[in-house]
Parts: sequence; C-alpha cells; structure tokens
Amino acid sequence: SLASRLQGAFDKLRGRGKIDETAVNEAMREVRLALLEADVNFKVVKEFIARVKERAVGQEVLKSLTPGQMVIKIVNEELTALMGGDVAKIAVANRPPTVVMMVGLQGAGKTTSTGKLAKHLQKQNRKPLLVAADIYRPAAIKQLQVLGEQIKAPVFSLGDQVSPVEIARQAIEHAKENHLDYVLIDTAGRLHIDEALMEELRQVREVAKPDEILLVVDAMTGQDAVNVAESFNQQLELTGVVLTKLDGDTRGGAALSVKAVTGKPIKFAAMGEKLDALEPFHPDRMASRILGMGDVLSLIEKAQEAVDTEKAKQMERQMRQGEFTFDMFLDSMQQMRNLGPLEDILGMLPGMNKLKGNMKVDEKQIGRVEAIVKSMTKAERANPDLLNASRRKRIAAGSGTSIQEVNRFIKQFEDMKKMMKQFTGMTDKIKKKQKKG
Ligand code: GDP
Ligand code: MG
Repeated sequence: SLASRLQGAFDKLRGRGKIDETAVNEAMREVRLALLEADVNFKVVKEFIARVKERAVGQEVLKSLTPGQMVIKIVNEELTALMGGDVAKIAVANRPPTVVMMVGLQGAGKTTSTGKLAKHLQKQNRKPLLVAADIYRPAAIKQLQVLGEQIKAPVFSLGDQVSPVEIARQAIEHAKENHLDYVLIDTAGRLHIDEALMEELRQVREVAKPDEILLVVDAMTGQDAVNVAESFNQQLELTGVVLTKLDGDTRGGAALSVKAVTGKPIKFAAMGEKLDALEPFHPDRMASRILGMGDVLSLIEKAQEAVDTEKAKQMERQMRQGEFTFDMFLDSMQQMRNLGPLEDILGMLPGMNKLKGNMKVDEKQIGRVEAIVKSMTKAERANPDLLNASRRKRIAAGSGTSIQEVNRFIKQFEDMKKMMKQFTGMTDKIKKKQKKG
C-alpha cells in the first residue's frame, strides 16, 4: 500500500542527524514510486516531489522532531495542500433555494450520493428537495423515491416522459413555493462521456442556474476518475467533486490528483452504501490516512507541551526500568488527562485505534478505575502479580464494582503498560533532542 511504502521510505531517514540531500533523494525516490503505483497522475507526482524536496533539503529540523519525522511532516502538509488544504464547504445561495446539480458517469454513485447529501443537509436543519431528472435509467426514479422515503425528504418527479430541463425548472418552482432551501438534481449518466449527455446537462444548467455542480466520481477507478473529472470540468465548469467508494480497496490516487488536475476541490467523500456514509472531505485526514500514521505529529507536539514535568520524568525512569504499578497508572491517567480527552490521545497513536476500542477509556470510567485502585492494598498496587481471585473479589466489593470489571481493568492495565512503554520511548527522544538543541 501507499502507506507502507511511505513508511518504508521514511524508515531509511531514521537515525540521521540532519536532513541532507542524499537522504531526502533516497526517501523521495520511494515516495515517487509509491505515488505512481497508487495511480496518482504523473505530472502531479513530479511537481509534488519537487516541492517536498525543495522544502526538506537543508531545512532546520524542529527541536522536537527527528529528521525523519520532519520529512513526514512536510510530506503530510504537502499532501494536504495537494488535496485543497481546507475543508471546502457546500454553497449557500443568497436567495434560497440553493440549487445543486449532481453529475457523473453511470454507476459512479450519483443517486446514492444525492440521498446522502440530503441527509447531511437535514442534519444542519436544511430542507432539501430531491429531484428525479434521470429519465433514462430504468428504475432510477424509483431508486430516488425509496431514498427520499428513508430520510423523509420530498422527491420531485414528473415521470420519464418529461424532459430533464422541464423537470429542473418545475422542481425549483416547487421548492420556492414550499420553502425548501436546497434543490438536489439527480441527473442521468452514461457509461462514457458523450456529446448528447453533455448537451443535456448544459441545457439543465442553463435553466437551473445551479450554485453547485458536483461531479460524482468513483474513487475505485483511480486515474480514470481523474480523466473523467477533467472532461466534465472542461465541459460544464464544475464547482466541486464527490468522491465515492472510498470504503473500498482504493489506492488513493484519485483523491490525490483530482484537485491538482482540475483545480476543483473534493467537497464530500462517500465511504459506504448506507445513507450516513457521506462526510465533508478533510484533506488533512485523508493525508494522514494515506500516510497511515495516525496523527503522530500533533501527538508529539502535545506531548512536548504537557508531559514535561518532574513527575513524568521520574515515572519515565521507573518505567524504563520495567516498573509499572497501579499508582503509576493513576498518575499517568492524570498526565494524559492534561493532554486532552483520552479518546483523542489514543486515536493519535499509530496502531492504538484497536486498543482504543478495547479499552473504551472515558472520563467516567477513570472514576471507577480510581475506586478500584484505591481498594487495593499498598502491596497489591505495587505488585499486580498478587492479585489472585479472592483479592479481586475483595477489591470488587470494596470499590462497588464487579469482579468482571476488576478483571477487565487489570487487563487494560497490562495493555496500558505496553502503551506507556511506547509513549515514554517517544517523549524520551524529544527530550534528548531538546537537550542537544
Ligand atoms: P449512479 O448511477 O451514479 O446514480 O450510481 P448509484 O447511486 O445508483 O450507485 C451505484 C452503485 O454504487 C450502487 O450499488 C450503490 O449502492 C453503490 N455506491 C454508491 N456510493 C458508494 C460508496 O460510497 N461505497 C460503496 N461501497 N458503494 C457505493
Ligand atoms: Mg442514478
């Protein structure tokens, strides 16, 4: 995968003292291959690599980072910029209704995305109208009506004997009369781009005067998706893209190239067939996903800000000696609390998402954990091996919890112990770096 390739490239940079040209070139060769293999547009790759090199070589390494992390940071930022940087919002017309045309090839996910977008808008207290303007595909109207029923949104249809242009015109009138503030026009697609399709879409555009023309493209089709986006953009002047089927085994290439090639932002990402599987597209999250590293950098930065206390240092010393007690667990929980919500912190650690599911750490649970630890004797707190069945039973009674809960916590404690080891390893490196610089 792209993620593991990039990781491989950066591993080579690990352990170097500063960012030198040879090291960057070596890593970038891997990045280039990885991107091309992920089906990213050739020209986009070339420019991307040049930009990263230019920024990376000779760059002063931030005190808190290693050179490898520094390059990852630059690649991450450039990937984010490549995909448009910020989240691109959907248009709001000065005078409602806001008209959105959904266009794209057959099977890309237009109709499904129209339903999903309506649901997304409803969550923001908008009142969308779904418009069935695909009069060619058998059952296309029915498909939209079913979606509309599921989300309780009105669907406008004039059957399949009235032209899409007329349907669009009347739908907008209908929306105005009924105070619906978004008109989502589900248009017809073809298997390939053809002049008849484009001409019809241009006519609908003429009449509907859309605030948004969103191209729906299938991320699974990789480079084809980018070519489709380029043609549609030339013919119709898109305002944005909806990238679908990101839940599948996509290689990420489409997401990376669409904005760079067309200049039009990806506004939404669809990640499944269900109606709530549509989200505003976050370039930074996609970049992290492509890099497959979680939000390591912000964790490192946060760790540096918050964990730099005497207590933490002492704890680290103990932990490096393989010591980890329940009291230290409580202390470390407090430390982590200072960093922010625990869920966020765990989510930032690579590979921790699984653990996060297991641990289900939340603030309320920390209270119960505190009670459990406080029901332990001093000896037990220092030595988990003492905790046999009868002691666990006593602790459960003392803390007002159950044996199951005590057992679960002790299991979590062991997991935590493993995690803290990784965590101290990281902060350790930062501190060393700080002392040098
Ligand atoms: P249209 O021809 O462009 O209107 O495409 P449809 O909306 O009818 O979707 C075509 C197929 O793709 C349907 O089976 C959808 O359920 C499926 N589909 C659409 N979006 C997604 C998605 O994000 N993920 C997955 N896995 N399937 C999707
Ligand atoms: Mg359709």
